[in-house]
Amino acid sequence: MVRQAIVAGNWKMHGTRAENQQLLQTINDGLAAVTASQVLVFPTYVYIQQVAELITEMNSPIGLGGQNLSEHAKGAYTGEISAAMLKDLECSHVLVGHSERRSLYHESNQLVASKFIAASEAGLTPVFCVGESLAERESGRTMDIVFRQIDAVLDIAGMTGLCKGIIAYEPVWAIGTGVTASPQQAQDVHHEIRSHLAELDEQLANEMQILYGGSVNATNATELFAMEDIDGGLIGGAALKADDFLKICIAAG
Ligand code: PEP
Repeated sequence: MVRQAIVAGNWKMHGTRAENQQLLQTINDGLAAVTASQVLVFPTYVYIQQVAELITEMNSPIGLGGQNLSEHAKGAYTGEISAAMLKDLECSHVLVGHSERRSLYHESNQLVASKFIAASEAGLTPVFCVGESLAERESGRTMDIVFRQIDAVLDIAGMTGLCKGIIAYEPVWAIGTGVTASPQQAQDVHHEIRSHLAELDEQLANEMQILYGGSVNATNATELFAMEDIDGGLIGGAALKADDFLKICIAAG
């Protein structure tokens, strides 16, 4: 089964108008060397419109996503952003359940599942992040935690609903730490996830794109992406360095 590789850059709470312009321009110029993979960037909310306009001006193949969204469609939710607003700003994707949202903003599995539904009902593709903490890994609970996160979405969306999204396996201990899961550690979890989904629908499980995230860089990307069940990466720190990000895109093929 050939699944298209995806490289997604999560810019987190970084950037200025000038920096965004420079970063996007350099990535776009270098992308001529990369044809097969889908490249996405996730700027912070206030710069989505700027980046959408730059993508249009550059006639760029880069796709755009939000870093988070509200589970509500509209209403009195001060400070929140709806799926329809992201769509209106030309986003095609949105991150849901990033570990920083889960840990710093106390997003539960149920809330993340509601956000997944809100995103896909509005026609956005959720990039659904799952992953275990170091303590959970060390106590042998990695798959229990990851399956619970996935099952919360399966419970309300079913397999067909889940498969409208993309899964990003991001072990919390590898995010922003410089410690990457080894290619085999990541592959093992990706394989378990795919097998878990295959119990419900083998064909959809084979089609599901599962990204790895956690300290991916220009040096380790090739080995990670060579693993059978790893379909690209969700990139944090290295997504802010145009040359590194481009090398990662090239590694994805
Ligand atoms: C992330 O925030 O999703 C991430 C993977 O970050 P980093 O690449 O910096 O570990």
